[in-house]
Amino acid sequence: MSLLGVKGLDVRHGLLQAVCNVSFDVDRSEIVAFVGANGAGKTTLFRALAGAHMPTSGRVILDGADVTTVPDYRRVRRGIALVPEGRHLFKDLTVYENLALANAAGRKGAWTLDAVLDVFPNLVPHMRQKAGTLSGGEQQAAAIGRALITNPDVLLLDEVSLGLSPAAVENVYASIQRLVGADTTILLVEQDLDRTLSVATRVICMLEGRIVLESAVGEISREQIVEAYFGTRQAHVEGVTTK
Ligand code: ATP
Repeated sequence: MSLLGVKGLDVRHGLLQAVCNVSFDVDRSEIVAFVGANGAGKTTLFRALAGAHMPTSGRVILDGADVTTVPDYRRVRRGIALVPEGRHLFKDLTVYENLALANAAGRKGAWTLDAVLDVFPNLVPHMRQKAGTLSGGEQQAAAIGRALITNPDVLLLDEVSLGLSPAAVENVYASIQRLVGADTTILLVEQDLDRTLSVATRVICMLEGRIVLESAVGEISREQIVEAYFGTRQAHVEGVTTK
C-alpha cells in the first residue's frame, strides 16, 4: 500500500477548475517533484493535500485512511505538513516560538528541536529573534524546520527557493539533501528544473490542472519534461506514463 494515494482529485477556485481529475500514489521515502508552468495547479494541489483547500471531488488517502475532508490543523496530526509558498511564518514571534507552536500542534517523533537545528544550524544564533527579521534563507529554513518538527509522514515543499539569493538556495537544498538521507517522504514544487531533478526520484508534470507526464527521474530526459511542461508534445518512451 502506498503512503499517499490521490484519486480523481478536482479542486476549484469558484468557477475555475484549477486541479482536474488528478491521481497518483507516493511510496514511503520517495521524493516526488511537481513541475509545470505558472498556473498549472501545483500550489492548489498542495493546498488540497494539506487540507487548506477542500476538493470538490476525489479522495486523499494517507497510510490507508481517508483524510479528504480533514482540515489542515487536524491533518498535521495525521502526518501531512505543508511549507507554503511565501513561508507564512508568525513574523512577530521568535523563531523558537514558531517552532514550539508547531511542535505542540504536531506529533512526537524523531524531529525534535535539536534534530531540526542539526539540519538547519544557521537558525541557532537566531532562536530569540523575531521570525520577520530573518533573512529570506533563514526564514525558509525556519519554515521547513517548523514543518519538520510536526514529524510529518509527508512533507510538502512549495517553491522553497522562490525569492532567495543563490547562496541561500544552495543552503536550503543542502538541507533538503540531508532530509533525503533521513528517509523523509517529500513532495516538492520547484521552478528550477535542474535543481528539481538533482533531488527528486520521480517527476510529475502538470499542465492546466492535469497530470500530463509522470516518470522516474532516471527514465526521462530533461527535454521530454520541458516538452510536457509547455504542452508542446506528449512524451512517448518506455517507462514513462503520459496522461
Ligand atoms: P505558480 O507556479 O504560478 O504558483 P501553480 O502551478 O502553483 O502556479 P496555482 O497557483 O495552483 O498554480 O493556480 C492554478 C489556477 O488557479 C490558476 O489559473 C490561478 O490563477 C488560479 N488560482 C489560484 N489561486 C486562486 C485564488 N485564490 N482565487 C482564484 N483563482 C486562483
